[in-house]
Amino acid sequence: MPFADRNLEDIRREVAAFADERDWAQFHSPRNLLLALMGEVGEAAEIVRWQGDAQPPVPPGKEEDWADELADVFTLLIRLADRSGVDLTTAFARKLQKARAKYPVAAFKGSNRKYDEVEGPEVRKSGSPEVV
Ligand SMILES: [Mg+2]
Repeated sequence: MPFADRNLEDIRREVAAFADERDWAQFHSPRNLLLALMGEVGEAAEIVRWQGDAQPPVPPGKEEDWADELADVFTLLIRLADRSGVDLTTAFARKLQKARAKYPVAAFKGSNRKYDEVEGPEVRKSGSPEVV
């Protein structure tokens, strides 16, 4: 599903403005935001708990609740990155580049193996500077 086109920096500013208008920066330490993020992940998990691999994966009638919880997770992730000095756009690009090196298509297409379970010269092993 394609997302509506929004700039991540615009979203960061919108989230910061929302918090600043309420004087909530005083509560938004990275630790508190991380714990809140984990709580929201738990709220999302509650919706699909016990669903197994059912189709659709989100119970009928719970689609908006699911979207709300994912938005909560997203909002808190944006705020956490902002308050801990992480440029999430740059971090994402860097991490995706590392993942490409760690999981080359030639070795991992259609595979759910972990990078250290695959042999071959094209697979970077743990300890390589490009592997996290
Ligand atoms: Mg929530």
